Amino acid sequence: MEKKKKLFFDMDGVLVDFQSGIDRLSDEVKKEYEGRLDEVPGIFSLMDPMPGAVEAVKVLRKYYDVYILSTAPWKNLSAWSDKVAWVTRHFGKIFHKHVILTHCKHLCKGDFLIDDRRKNGAGKFKGELIRFGTKRYPNWEKVVEYLLSPCNYLRPIIFVEDLNFDEITETMVEKTITALDSYAKILNERLEENYTEELADQILSLSQLTNRWLRAKKVEDEYQYYDI
Ligand SMILES: [Mg+2]
Repeated sequence: MEKKKKLFFDMDGVLVDFQSGIDRLSDEVKKEYEGRLDEVPGIFSLMDPMPGAVEAVKVLRKYYDVYILSTAPWKNLSAWSDKVAWVTRHFGKIFHKHVILTHCKHLCKGDFLIDDRRKNGAGKFKGELIRFGTKRYPNWEKVVEYLLSPCNYLRPIIFVEDLNFDEITETMVEKTITALDSYAKILNERLEENYTEELADQILSLSQLTNRWLRAKKVEDEYQYYDI
């Protein structure tokens, strides 16, 4: 299987709760920087993560190659270092040397960008733009649910109906089965918490897909793995 797909995270309004930093400023400072609060020195070190952001990144990094793709205000020089410090404080080594601060996001090549705005090149991003905070992706729960669908994190080859198994290597089969197994595990856990028909159907079609791959591996008794 090819390398993991690349996933970029914007910071403000996506990983970072910008308002939490503003709430910590004194009234004096708020007045002085009215209309340009992102220029307050040190403001980027005062912010909390968005609810569910840290957990979401920890799950998604298992399936994607993860990077920060954010913009720091041109006139607030401390914001550039505050942002790197913030990422390290909240995410440890997850984004170590994987931080890109730019006003030209469209020049970065990747599969997904999670961003709340289309500014600074986000709208011209060549991969898929996931607009955080919209009706479709109002919170981290919805974004993670979407990105953990195997048709998003796996390369499309496994969904081709008429796979020519003669052209597929044994390693490719092994890795695909492992990926499908881990996705089935996630779905099963979710099903135990909250049963829905839709989820049960998804699990069934996932087992059928896995069985097709097991056949490619020439596993004689595929039912030893699945109770269907
Ligand atoms: Mg933003």
